[in-house]
Amino acid sequence: MAVDLLVFGPHPDDLEIGLGGTLAKLKRNGAHVVMVVASIPKDFEVRMEEAKRGAEILGCELRLLLDGGPRRLEDVKTCDLVGLLDGVVKEYKPAAVLTHSNADFHNDHLLIYNACLPTQRLAPFDFFSYHPTNCRPVPIAFHPKAYVDVTDTIDAKMHAITAHKSQFGGRGLDTEMYREFAHLQGRMIGVPYAEGLDVMRLTLA
Ligand SMILES: [Zn+2]
Repeated sequence: MAVDLLVFGPHPDDLEIGLGGTLAKLKRNGAHVVMVVASIPKDFEVRMEEAKRGAEILGCELRLLLDGGPRRLEDVKTCDLVGLLDGVVKEYKPAAVLTHSNADFHNDHLLIYNACLPTQRLAPFDFFSYHPTNCRPVPIAFHPKAYVDVTDTIDAKMHAITAHKSQFGGRGLDTEMYREFAHLQGRMIGVPYAEGLDVMRLTLA
């Protein structure tokens, strides 16, 4: 099955935070989008339900890479993780792949970034990385090279983020900073809301 967009997120909520507006927009424009969540470290049932709800709000297909129960990415050998990501890329034959960026300090996020890099050898898909998905504002060296206008889908993004109740309301964390951040990125391209991407490989047709 060939899909338009294959997006990798280390945990439930990362894709909604990093790319929710972009995913909802592309889906609304007719793209086939598959969200691959790599692992759920704990509270498996709760977080799986939240992941399903988030994907449903964005209108995207959801797949869990390390399925069957709580798993930690750091318990998987690097070569096995690369093999798993290779398998998904071969199965879906995406036109574009998006992954977490390396401008992050969460080790699981870096593990996914590093395991995604070698998938580039499998096919000449376009390849992007999205902004680090911190729960709290921290200084991050991420410099977008491309922006997606998500003005029409910012509400879907915020709705999808708040579907992850165990991660935000339950821990007293504020989700509004993601709207504010999208607003700041929107200023870069003169629109109300945007999401920034780093471009790792792009074919200009
Ligand atoms: Zn994460």
